[in-house]
Amino acid sequence: MSEIFHVAAPSATIAGSAARFPIRRIFCVGKNYADHAREMGGDPEREPPFFFSKPADAVVPGGAEIAMPPRTANLHHEIELVVALGGGGANVSADGAMDLVFGYAVGNDLTRRDLQADAKAGGRPWDMAKGFDHSAILSPIRPAAEVGHPASARIWLTVNGEARQDGDIADMIWPVADIIAELSSYVELKAGDLIYTGTPAGVGRIAAGDLVEGGIDGIGTIANRFA
Ligand code: MN
Repeated sequence: MSEIFHVAAPSATIAGSAARFPIRRIFCVGKNYADHAREMGGDPEREPPFFFSKPADAVVPGGAEIAMPPRTANLHHEIELVVALGGGGANVSADGAMDLVFGYAVGNDLTRRDLQADAKAGGRPWDMAKGFDHSAILSPIRPAAEVGHPASARIWLTVNGEARQDGDIADMIWPVADIIAELSSYVELKAGDLIYTGTPAGVGRIAAGDLVEGGIDGIGTIANRFA
């Protein structure tokens, strides 16, 4: 093969618009709710949240049917508020951070929990546990110009209609402004970046055939069947 090829640029739906949101990078926050940190065996008083990432083309729409991913016997759901950036910067102050937010969406940070446990035990990277194909479910993005900057809202997830996760984004250890400020001290943020802001307690297994639904009041919903 010597012909140059075309690689599609990942993008996301914007609610109420024909325009699409171009996705540059996907960052994720780990252990940003105290109840989830504890259910994973951590101590939120001693360990601050932290960052990892997924490839931009891991995004899959919040209404898509998703094939069960390979190499796992313990696929987990993590319902999350997603921040979509319309601007960027390095060493952003928390005071100026919200000016960079284009909008918000509902996400599900799919996790191969068995591979993550192996990686933790072996001191190895999380990439194959977190950054696999179709691992970043995303609802349409709601512009902040319409929905504002919600500081408090119910965040929930059900599997086949049964409650699994039910929390409030007000319980994030690092609120959105702090996440942006902290993350921008590690890497320069830019327009097109998505930030999955962490999940409340109640993460659990998804099996073939399951319907996984979730939402954040005022932001949107997702509903994915796993085939
Ligand atoms: Mn997560």
